[in-house]
Amino acid sequence: MTKMIKCVSCGADYEAKLVRCPYCGTAPLAAEEDEYMDKLEDVRRDLEEYGSEGSRELKRGLGKTALITIVALLVIAILIACSIWITGAGRRSDGQRKKEEFLTNQGITTGMLEESVYAV
Ligand SMILES: [Zn+2]
Repeated sequence: MTKMIKCVSCGADYEAKLVRCPYCGTAPLAAEEDEYMDKLEDVRRDLEEYGSEGSRELKRGLGKTALITIVALLVIAILIACSIWITGAGRRSDGQRKKEEFLTNQGITTGMLEESVYAV
């Protein structure tokens, strides 16, 4: 036999499984509490979903930030390598220029040196 409850508002008897009185729509205190708890549970679930989505987005954001950082570091490394290479090349050509200056002072030009190489 189905359990019947008496409506606290209109006094009609109705099935206990019904959340509200089918006659006046009043919910008994226990049912109202259940409904409230259900809504609260929904809100909690929504918050949880939002939270996990938020952390997922945060992770995605962190992934993007990490990628940008790696690219930035690579660019910086390339720039440093280039500046070292340019400085090194500058030093090399500086040394070459000094050698040429010395040879010119000796009355010898690199052209002459090359000619002598061909002569031999
Ligand atoms: Zn009622």
